[in-house]
Amino acid sequence: MKTILDLIPPHIRTLAGYVPGKAVRQAQRESGVSMIKLASNENPLGPSPRAVEAIRKAANEVNLYPDNDATELRAELAARHGITPEQVFLADGSLGLLDILARTLLGPGLNCVTSERTFISYPIVTQAAGGQFITTPMRQDRYDLNAIAAAINDNTRLVILANPNNPTGTMFDADTTGAFLARVPSHVLVVLDEAYSDFGTYFAAKRGLTYSRSMDYVRSGRRNVVILRTFSKAHGLAGIRLGYGCGDPELFQYFGRVRNSFSVSAIALAAGLAAIRDEDHIHRTVENNAEGAAWLLPQFAELGLRAVPTSANFIYFEVDEDANSFTKRMQAEGVIVRSLAPWGIANGVRVTIGTPEQNQMFMRALNKVARQAVAK
Ligand SMILES: *Cc1c(COP(=O)(O)O)cnc(C)c1O
Repeated sequence: MKTILDLIPPHIRTLAGYVPGKAVRQAQRESGVSMIKLASNENPLGPSPRAVEAIRKAANEVNLYPDNDATELRAELAARHGITPEQVFLADGSLGLLDILARTLLGPGLNCVTSERTFISYPIVTQAAGGQFITTPMRQDRYDLNAIAAAINDNTRLVILANPNNPTGTMFDADTTGAFLARVPSHVLVVLDEAYSDFGTYFAAKRGLTYSRSMDYVRSGRRNVVILRTFSKAHGLAGIRLGYGCGDPELFQYFGRVRNSFSVSAIALAAGLAAIRDEDHIHRTVENNAEGAAWLLPQFAELGLRAVPTSANFIYFEVDEDANSFTKRMQAEGVIVRSLAPWGIANGVRVTIGTPEQNQMFMRALNKVARQAVAK
């Protein structure tokens, strides 16, 4: 007789689970040394102190359900972006929103198109919704937007673009986005995942580029663009689960029906409001990151390792051995970095840019471990 487990549909059975960066305590237990985590692109300066204060205050009212409409935070985000509150949709992280997007627009016979070597959650939400996941090859560590446009067919409903991209740290500028959008038919929703927008804006300006004009598309009422933003990276609130989309209010009405009610907690709403007002904290975060990138990047070349110049808060590099064994040996030296083997990049590694002290610890460990690999 068949059990319920035998009857799990194939698209769920073959789902590859998300592999998170290793938790500090677990790694410490395994390796018996004290540990720094540079594996999940979290803010090394911690959360905004103002957000922490807001969390403490909000704690006194957690017996009450949160404001399901997130009225105050939506109004503040809308004002900052120059759009209306109806054009803002809050969720429990960008991941929460990606899940809603996929469940609203995908299903059997429909597909989502993106690049290879991009955010590991895109195939998961696509397949969980019964959709087909289509990827195109990269060119020189970058999205090939021509190939992505060419891969769109009648059954495509979603194109997701991470800009800057995780894990390569590469970006495309506002003009490139505009040219791409001009080629996308109206039956396809383009999701611009701008999780690293604060970093992208900074690095683009330094190179004389315009990072993104994505909010202009929302302002002008364009229907087939949704922008994703998160509080998990520059705002330092990854543990609270808060993100949002900007886009077409009519589409968001459907999202509102699909989403789980009260999925954004009262604590998250309070923390988010305080965090966006703490511009000083974001500024310090972006500055620390840029200094870290400038200090770290040349040192990979000195070790004979290829690293890709970053537009985000992490660096993609390649080692002379299997990435999983490399990251294990880094962990033995007290540094958790991310093997990109789950992305299908056998020798690819991603390191989050830390505080100056953390960056030094990382480089000390890298020197030792990379030289061991050469000596082997
Ligand atoms: C980190 C990251 C996110 C953020 O996800 P949350 O659910 O908001 O924590 C989204 N997209 C990309 C590409 C990321 O790297």
